[in-house]
Parts: sequence; structure tokens; C-alpha cells
Amino acid sequence: MRRFSCDCGHPLFFESTSCTNCDNEVGYDPDSADMVTLKGASRIGSLFGKSGDFEYCLNGQKHQVCNWLVRPEQSGSLCKGCLFNRTIPDLSRPDNPTRWHRFEQAKKRLLYSLYTLNLPLTNGWQDQKNGLLFDFIEDQRTNPVLVESFVSTGYLSGIITINTIEADDIAREATKNKMNESYRTLLGHLRHESGHYYYSFLSKFPDLQDEFANLFGDASQDYQQSLDRYYTEGPPKSWSNSFISSYASSHLLEDWAECWSHYQHLTDTLETASSYEMVKGQVRHDDFRSMANLWRSFAVALNELNRSIGLGDAYPFVITQTIERKLAFVGKMVSRLSQIHRAMEVR
Ligand SMILES: [Zn+2]
Ligand SMILES: [Zn+2]
Ligand SMILES: [Zn+2]
Repeated sequence: MRRFSCDCGHPLFFESTSCTNCDNEVGYDPDSADMVTLKGASRIGSLFGKSGDFEYCLNGQKHQVCNWLVRPEQSGSLCKGCLFNRTIPDLSRPDNPTRWHRFEQAKKRLLYSLYTLNLPLTNGWQDQKNGLLFDFIEDQRTNPVLVESFVSTGYLSGIITINTIEADDIAREATKNKMNESYRTLLGHLRHESGHYYYSFLSKFPDLQDEFANLFGDASQDYQQSLDRYYTEGPPKSWSNSFISSYASSHLLEDWAECWSHYQHLTDTLETASSYEMVKGQVRHDDFRSMANLWRSFAVALNELNRSIGLGDAYPFVITQTIERKLAFVGKMVSRLSQIHRAMEVR
């Protein structure tokens, strides 16, 4: 994440809606990928910022769940990020507005990463064939009157589904303990599921197929059988030599999605570290080996920082040489995708 500041010089977060120093309202302009200090009368009216007039996204105005901005000509409409929504939960139910707010914040971080990596990204309303949409939905665990007893978080045909229960800290921690996981977050889920979406683009690159199979395995492996085996027998004994998480050992598509999400964890966190001058030297996206080494030393510092204030490790994972090769392949795929994206833009 980039480092943002208000016009008055005070630091801002990506999620900020006002400056704690000068009290001006602030918002994120996805076109310039920058926070904008807004000077104007009201939250709903047109507000003036650095490069012209802005208005908060409709979801920001009506529900206070979004700080992204739209231009006056898009007045009263959803922002670039909220346009990716297909389903949101029933807001008349007590905890859902807070859950939705958390979901939006994590989703905006995911979108920031995908845009920063210059990946092709269109919402499914604009492009029904290749676009992406999000369902953020409940089941009986949070709403007993619903028909569905269990809606799983997952990806299918351009739709990322996140169960609203994942936005409940206590429920999510309980699942994390039950599943013996070291990490479970909304952002982690979203980055993982986006990996399934981008896997569908792999068929565009015939020259990468063999390398993919060598690193991740045989794609004909039955998905349901592999997952059933994982849930009954658990991961293989020495999974951590070859897999970034135990879940990654369940099937090669899950391994791919886990590596895809970790590639985003690394690139985004190193961008943040670099913008706050916490890492020495340049973050080299074109040389994954040097990025992985930079990450390894930074991750130790990151974990120590967390431990210093009594929190658990921020990055409880080890990137072995085998895992590094898989992450480097993700990096290669990201760069190929951004090349075709750039070519499409030029056309
Ligand atoms: Zn300020
Ligand atoms: Zn929005
Ligand atoms: Zn998955």
C-alpha cells in the first residue's frame, strides 16, 4: 500500500474518511490511486479536491461503508469498487452493516492490489463472460430464517462468495482454531479466491502449462475426492516443505490459490514497507529471488514488531525453496497478465 497524506501533511490511511488533524473529509480516488482532501459543505453535495470535484460513492453516502470517490458526472452512483458487488446481506439485521463495512474495506484492499499489479479486471456487469462479481451472503448460522444451512466461501464461474460469518471476529477465530490454521482473515480469503478467478486465464498461455504442471501437479486430479481426503486424513506429514499452508496441500488448485494470495501479501506489504522506508533497496518485481530474500528478512522484523506489542505473528509462514519457485511462477503469470492487459488498453 502507498503512503497517503492529507493536504495539511497529516498521515492518512487507505480507509480514512476524515483527517484527524484538520477535520476535512477525505476519500480515495481510484483513478489517481490517491487519497484526496475534500473541501466542501456536505457529505452528499459535490466536494472539491486536488484535481476537481468529487462525491462520495453512494454506499459511502447512504451506508458509510465506502470512502471511494466518484466524479460529479457519476453523481449518485456506486464507485468503481462497489460496482463489483452482486449480493450484500439484509441490512435490517443488526450486525450486517458492520460486517458489510469490514467486507468492503478488505475488498477495496484486494482491488487496490489487483489494480496495482495491473491485472485485467472488469466487473461482471460490464463483462458477463470474463468479469468478476462478489456475493457477500449469510446462511442459517447468522440468520436462522434462511433456507441455506451452509454457504461456503469460494469461487465459481466469475463469482467470489464470502460468507458474512467471516466478518465476525469471534466466529472466524473459532473456525481458525477448529481447523488448526495459523492465519484466517477476510483479506486472505479474498486474495485466495481471486487466485481461482485468475487461474481461468492460465489457458491463454500454452507455453506456461508444462511449468505449471511441474510445480503444482496434475490438473486432472479429482477436486472433490482430494478435498474429502484432506478433511478426513489431514495434510501429508511433511507438507510444510512444499506447501505454504496445510490447506494448500489439499489439491493443486488450492495450492495455486494460496500461492496467488501470498504473492499479493508479499508485494502489497513490501510496497507499504518501502513507502514507509522500512526496507532498504528497491523492491524488484522482475526478480522474484531478490524479492523473496527481502521478504524473508522483513517478515522476521514484522513478526518481532507484532510480538513487541503482544500480538501474534503477522506472517506465520515459511517460504522454502520449493514454495519460492511456485511464488515466482505466480509472479511470471502476473507479469504476463499485465502485458496482455496493457496491450488491450493500447488498442
Ligand atoms: Zn488534514
Ligand atoms: Zn464504493
Ligand atoms: Zn480455494
